[in-house]
Amino acid sequence: MSRRALWPLLAVGVLLIAGSGDQAPRPSASASSLSPALVADSALTASPAASPSAIPTVAVIAIAPPTTPNTGVATFAAPLDLSRVVVPPGNGALVVIDPGHGGDEIGAVAYGLVEKDSNLEMGRRVERLLTQAGYRVLLTRHDAGRAVGGVDGAGQPQGFSAQRRDLQARIDLANAAGAAVFVSLHSNGLNDPSASGVETYYNAARPFSTYSRLLAQSIQSNVIAEMTHSGYRVRDRGTLDDACLRAFQGVCFPLFVLGPPRVTTRDEVLRRGGDPATLGFEAGQDAIASRATQMPGALAELLFVSNPDDARLLADDAAREALARGVVLGISRFLAEQPR
Ligand SMILES: [Zn+2]
Repeated sequence: MSRRALWPLLAVGVLLIAGSGDQAPRPSASASSLSPALVADSALTASPAASPSAIPTVAVIAIAPPTTPNTGVATFAAPLDLSRVVVPPGNGALVVIDPGHGGDEIGAVAYGLVEKDSNLEMGRRVERLLTQAGYRVLLTRHDAGRAVGGVDGAGQPQGFSAQRRDLQARIDLANAAGAAVFVSLHSNGLNDPSASGVETYYNAARPFSTYSRLLAQSIQSNVIAEMTHSGYRVRDRGTLDDACLRAFQGVCFPLFVLGPPRVTTRDEVLRRGGDPATLGFEAGQDAIASRATQMPGALAELLFVSNPDDARLLADDAAREALARGVVLGISRFLAEQPR
């Protein structure tokens, strides 16, 4: 993701685009305006086999199903035909991996790295390693587009409406599949090139937040440990509550995909250039609520594309594999430690 609060400071060198697990306005920009290109994004496509010998095998957890608060307003239109969700067969715990961004929302961009592409490639690495360890994995998107098809084409909603539908689809997918955990993968971007490192977010206002925090801590500590053991020096930015990740006009917004049901008013949709009808507003309806994820969740920010040293690691196949191993170890150790 990138950080809205610093957008006014965007200037030379590094270009950032908003988004991630949340809504945010985005400046118009294109990758062609980037400079300098210190790394080649061709490295993002490489994906050799790995040997995740230390990754624990499957444990199925039993966490009491949370209840979704009744917000008293209608909910978002369902952007997915959930009857078409195919859950991988087997007995392993089901892990939903969410490669952040997609479609025209490309995430942070710098040094030849495009976050949405990097996130997807990382998601595939994590999927491969988790599957090898016996887990079942669902990715929320499989290509450069959004999680829900048909919203990027000509005549289809773009911008705010498309992003909200996209994020809701990722949540709906995880809920419909009965996932044990929801893990969103991102890399950070900031106009300050000195900012670097790895951080993992969770939401502290959910019925299962204790588990989300443990999941986030497990991912964070295992990513740092795996990178360190592999000879890479990365900054440990810690595990963070996302409750006030984005503050706008005195109001805090947690990450959309981790937080509680979010009420959105018609005025807000219109102000942000969205289409209320696309999001499920009926005539005369003033607000709708999102459907929240119903399982422990975390969002990992794997290094900064905007930091030259981090960007080199993100363009390095072996470093990317170490990052993926860390994520997988974090997930699998969390699942293994929960009561059956
Ligand atoms: Zn992101």
